[in-house]
Amino acid sequence: MKTTSPFLLLLIPLALLTQSCTKTLSSTPQTEYVMGTFCTVNLFENESPKLHTEIFDRLRELEDILSANKENTNVSEINTAAGIFPVHAEKETLEILKIALEFSTSTNGAFDPSIGPLVKTWGIGTNEAAVPSLEKITKALSLVDYTKIEISDNTIFLPQKGMQLDLGAIAKGYAADEIVKILTKHNIKRAIIDLGGNVFAHGKKTRTKPWTIGIRDPEVASGNPVLSVSIENKSVVTSGIYQRNFMENGKTYHHILDPKTGFPAENDLLAVTIISSSSILADALSTSAFLLGLEKGLHLIEATKNTEALFITKNKDVFVTRGLQGQLNIINTQYTIKN
Ligand code: FAD
Ligand code: MG
Repeated sequence: MKTTSPFLLLLIPLALLTQSCTKTLSSTPQTEYVMGTFCTVNLFENESPKLHTEIFDRLRELEDILSANKENTNVSEINTAAGIFPVHAEKETLEILKIALEFSTSTNGAFDPSIGPLVKTWGIGTNEAAVPSLEKITKALSLVDYTKIEISDNTIFLPQKGMQLDLGAIAKGYAADEIVKILTKHNIKRAIIDLGGNVFAHGKKTRTKPWTIGIRDPEVASGNPVLSVSIENKSVVTSGIYQRNFMENGKTYHHILDPKTGFPAENDLLAVTIISSSSILADALSTSAFLLGLEKGLHLIEATKNTEALFITKNKDVFVTRGLQGQLNIINTQYTIKN
């Protein structure tokens, strides 16, 4: 099983920096490397080492259940038992998988939590990333099919040997929602959580003012904000091509894979940002909308209640959902809002 090398860890601050950044009050941000990315928690009131510990312990606990990169996690056990026997599923795995499967249906299979064999074949985000042979892609694709996943009596069974779950497109959103539950339990009213691109702006900046969240340049891993939006109690999640990719023969290959072709999804988009009060939905939707492309992606978000999105194209055009029109501030004038 591939794991992140120490060399790669050094690259991750550049490679995985969140696309959203925040202009906020002062606090002492706590950052730890969990779930293959840097997770930062900014508590703007009642900061305490005990609370930071509780938050990061929960994140590590989730990683130990949900990671497809570590051995002995619930997801890894399910993957290892593929084609052999059903495995008891933790409530977190079940909850996330059930939501993931709803997105598989609503995207007509573009979003597929059984994408694991293809993700491993490409190795994007590891130091073994390379364009696989067509033979390897075809073999991996024959193992990707969400309709075959069997869920019953709190067990999950992947009926074909070699099938593998990968919840990388949705689990960080679940984790952000779990942190918000902890903050609410402790009556913390102002905080910014950033799990490698999954931002949750909890509460308001002040009693009367919302948070201002910057949307980073989607072409540069650690770029400056190009747009900003004011929000409160909402998650802002971005999926894009810049975060995890590699170049071979002058072409860039990114990590959002099309289960129909076996290759990175090809369309005009650089990034999709979703704004929603649920981070798990925002995470699933950002990947789903990216996979569907501008037109179908916009349609999907418009059909989703209380959810807004902005799509940034390779021409630096920005398309927004109806509820976001007039709400974005342009910081970098190379970007143009088109609707
Ligand atoms: P998103 O758009 O939200 O998701 C893209 C990811 O979804 C891809 O990287 C792939 O994993 C998956 N995916 C690709 N195509 C599809 C598709 N068609 N349908 C559904 N899913 C798809 N990374 C490491 O390098 N080392 C680790 O040890 C590690 N551990 C992790 C543990 C956990 C619990 C999780 C959730 C992730 C872990 N990661 C690890 C992955 C890393 O954090 C990813 O960068 C992240 O999950 C991708 O999220 P994103 O927001 O960048 O992109
Ligand atoms: Mg996602």
